Amino acid sequence: MKKRTLHIGLDDTDSTKRGCTTYVAALLVEQLEEIGASFLDYPNLIRLNPNVPWKTRGNGALCLRIEHDEKLTSRIKEATINMVEEQADFEAKGTDPGIVFFDKQTIPKEITIFAKKATTGIVTLKEALRLINKFKGEALGFNTYRGIIGALAAIGETLQEDYTYELIAYRAADNCGSKRKVDEDSIFQMDALTKPYTFNNIDTEKRRLIITPRGPDPILFGVRGENPHIVKEAFTMIKPLEPVERWVIFRSNQGTDAHLKRVPALNQLKPYSSIIAKGVVSQNPWIVPLRHVIFPIRDESGKVDCAAYEPTGVLRKVAMKLVVGDSVEVYGAVRKSSASKRLTVNLEKIRVIGLAPKIVYNNPLCAKCGRRLKSMGKAQGFRCEKCGSRYSGLAKVAVAVERDLKTGLYVTSTRSQRHLTKPLRRYGLEKSGWTSEKLIDEWHSFQVELM
Ligand code: ATP
Repeated sequence: MKKRTLHIGLDDTDSTKRGCTTYVAALLVEQLEEIGASFLDYPNLIRLNPNVPWKTRGNGALCLRIEHDEKLTSRIKEATINMVEEQADFEAKGTDPGIVFFDKQTIPKEITIFAKKATTGIVTLKEALRLINKFKGEALGFNTYRGIIGALAAIGETLQEDYTYELIAYRAADNCGSKRKVDEDSIFQMDALTKPYTFNNIDTEKRRLIITPRGPDPILFGVRGENPHIVKEAFTMIKPLEPVERWVIFRSNQGTDAHLKRVPALNQLKPYSSIIAKGVVSQNPWIVPLRHVIFPIRDESGKVDCAAYEPTGVLRKVAMKLVVGDSVEVYGAVRKSSASKRLTVNLEKIRVIGLAPKIVYNNPLCAKCGRRLKSMGKAQGFRCEKCGSRYSGLAKVAVAVERDLKTGLYVTSTRSQRHLTKPLRRYGLEKSGWTSEKLIDEWHSFQVELM
């Protein structure tokens, strides 16, 4: 029996009305195991550039990495194609499924670089097809074929640097579209018992659940964490109040900041990228309609506006407290305004590096009685309301006041974090390398107590 390796990339099977590519992967896991394949890794859930305008939701793509008897190759490929054909929402505009098969053991560097680029910027179908041709992969696309981009990028992101896990529990088909029923208290308890090794379960500011998505997709909830054991343990602590049809543990780049690229100068910012850049606040922040806070930063090369939107919670409060001269590092997505053509960084994080003195201008004190003077109007001098003394030629006095802000890193509220944003809870828990460890015994299941 000759063993073969196969990497199967999948993307863009769903629409805003139904489906989810992770669910297609979950169904395939079961089918491929039945055929006789064994998994070399947990299915990889790869989040690509969150600023891609044509994404459905979280710009996720999937890769299954398997080993199998070479006699099974065509059955495996056929099962994959059939599954996508059965599950994809072909009627929806903008659903352009893609499948890529790649049968080399090692992923070529060029494909890895392509994946990094697809996570941080924009790539083209032409680039994807060139690489598939060059390295003798196989691709199958539907509609515009755009899904091939994500399918190849998922193969190329082998998660050799930092990574996390997510256990996704799926709903029974009949329940899709209705309100999700999960015991809320059990999720709060699970979070308390598993932190810091699970993350993004709840939004602590609003005491709201994050692990249950909204929308008609088949996900009941997803638990994110540092290792497969903890997400599975967390899963057993959650009380679903509707049937869980199946669940799967994925390995992922979620929560790793993989989308952020450091740029050395502000004149190098490009729309649709997510960046980390340093600058000095060049104007005090102001509030625009919908309570968003805007402030510009500059460096020697240029200037850019930064926006802390209302749902960013703590970040918005921090942004409000900045003053001219503060030195900051901003993290976020670069957007180009269609009206003004100006670039704005939509903030995900701010690192306050240095605080400038905050100066307020006070009226001087009365030389006779020590009371603070009243201004009599512009260039009209000052008057003491207590003893009646009048002064001309005095000026307001500059006073440095204590700043109500500390240096350090501030992260957007959990509810407005992108899938890729590294939450504060993960700082210090980053991993540096995947060593093809043995998968845990039961990492997926088709079950379960149907109620
Ligand atoms: P889901 O996660 O539910 O599958 P989604 O939000 O991932 O939905 P898709 O439906 O997969 O969105 O649509 C994203 C499309 O954009 C895919 O066709 C994918 O190939 C393509 N794409 C992803 N990243 C990039 C990129 N960096 N440059 C160009 N195209 C991209």
